[in-house]
Amino acid sequence: MAKFLPLLAALVFAFFALSAPAAAQQSGPAAAPTATIDRHELPPIGTPQGAFDPQKATAAYLAQVSGTARERSDAYFEGHDEVLPFVDALYMIAICGLVLWFRVSAALRDFAVRQTRSRFWQASLYVGPMILILAVATFPLTLYESFFREKSYGLMNQTFLAWFKDQLIGLGLLLIIGLIALTILYAIIRRAPRTWWVWCAAVAIGFSAFGTMIEPVVIAPLFNHYSPLPESPLKTDILRIARGEGIPADNVYLVDASRQSDRISANVSGFMGTTRVTLNDNLLHKGTHDEVLAVLGHEMGHYVLDHALWGLVLGGLVIVLTFGFLQGAFGGLANLFGGNWDVREVSDPAGFPLLVALFTAFSLLMTPVNNWITRSAAIQADMFGINAVRKPDAFSSVVLKLANYRKLDPSPWEEFIFYDHPSGHTRIWEMMRWKAQHLDDPDIKAGPVSPQ
Ligand SMILES: [Zn+2]
Repeated sequence: MAKFLPLLAALVFAFFALSAPAAAQQSGPAAAPTATIDRHELPPIGTPQGAFDPQKATAAYLAQVSGTARERSDAYFEGHDEVLPFVDALYMIAICGLVLWFRVSAALRDFAVRQTRSRFWQASLYVGPMILILAVATFPLTLYESFFREKSYGLMNQTFLAWFKDQLIGLGLLLIIGLIALTILYAIIRRAPRTWWVWCAAVAIGFSAFGTMIEPVVIAPLFNHYSPLPESPLKTDILRIARGEGIPADNVYLVDASRQSDRISANVSGFMGTTRVTLNDNLLHKGTHDEVLAVLGHEMGHYVLDHALWGLVLGGLVIVLTFGFLQGAFGGLANLFGGNWDVREVSDPAGFPLLVALFTAFSLLMTPVNNWITRSAAIQADMFGINAVRKPDAFSSVVLKLANYRKLDPSPWEEFIFYDHPSGHTRIWEMMRWKAQHLDDPDIKAGPVSPQ
C-alpha cells in the first residue's frame, strides 16, 4: 500500500506541472493535441482570402462565454473531472488500507467462515457487508460531490430526498451485481489460482457486454422515464436524417433528465438489439431546432460507426490489463503485508479491499487511456454528424451551451488526459474548418453567418 501513495502523489504533481505551462503558452487551435496534420498548411480550398477565417470564427465563438460564466465552468470542470477523481481514488485506497490494517476485513471473513463451511457461500457472506462498509465510508464524499457541489453550480434539480432515493437504488444495484460478480470471481480464483486473472477478465468482458445490452431497458428506467420522441417537425427532421444514415427510425427516445440535473446531453446506449439514440429534455428545451439536429448527428455517428462494439473491444483490452495487474500486485503486497492484515492468498475474501485499492489505483492511471478511447470515437462521431446534418454553426453554439459543465478551452495536455470528448475549442474549430471547406455549397451559403 505504502508503495502506491508516493507514486500517485508524483503523478498528480506531474499532471499539474505539465498542464500549467502549456496553458500559458497556448495560442490557437493548432495547439490542439488531436491534430494529425499541420492545420496551418491546409488553407481552405477555393475560398477568397479573408472572406471567412475559421480561426477567427472559432475565437469569436469562444469569446461568447467569458468573464464569470467562463470562470465558473472552468472551475466546475477542473474540480469535477481533474481534481476530485484523484481525491476519490486516494480516499478509497485509504479506506481500504484502514479496513485491512485494523483487520476489519479479516474479522468479516472469520464471521463468514463461522456461518458456513462452503467456501462458495463464505465469499457471498463476506462480500455484501464489505460493499456496504465501503459505500458508507465513501458516502461523505459522494454527498459533497454529487449533491452539494452540483447544487452550488446550479446543475442539481433534485431535492435531497429524491437524490438520496436515487443513491439507495444505485446501492441496491451495486449490491446485487457485486454479490453475483464477486461470488463468481472467487469461485474462479479457487479453481484456477494461477490463471484466474485471464478467466476473470473474460467473465468481466461478458458482464460488461451484458450490462451494456440491458442498461437502456432494465437499469436506466429505474432512474428516469424514457419515451419515444413526440411527433413534431423536429422529429420528422431527425427521422429523415436517421433513415438516410440507415438507422432504424423508432430508436429515437426522449428522457426526463431534468428530473436530476440541468445538463444538456444526448447519448447512444445499448448493444445489439437494444441500441438506441436518446436526447434529454434539457437539450430539447434549451437547444434550437438546428442545435438538437447537430447533437443528434453526433449520436447517430456513434450508432452507425458501431462505437458500442468498439468500446467493448478496446475496453476489454483495458480489462485484461487490469486483471493482469491485480494478479501481480496482489501477490507482491500480500507477501509483504499479508501477516499484518491476516490475508493469506488471493482466494481469501479478506483480501478483497486490497483488490479494490489496486483496481482503484490502476483505473486512475488508465484514465488517459480510457479517455483517449472515448475521445477518439467522439471525434469520429463529430465528423460523421457534421457531414450528415451540415449545421456547423448550430453545433458550435450548442457546444457553448455544454460549457456549463465542460471547460471550453483547456491546455492540450489537460485535454489529452482528462477529456472524454474533444474540448469546446477543438470541436468549434472542427466545425469552422469544415465550414471553410463547404462555403460554396448552397445550404452553407444560405445558412447563418459565423461571428468573426
Ligand atoms: Zn459522444
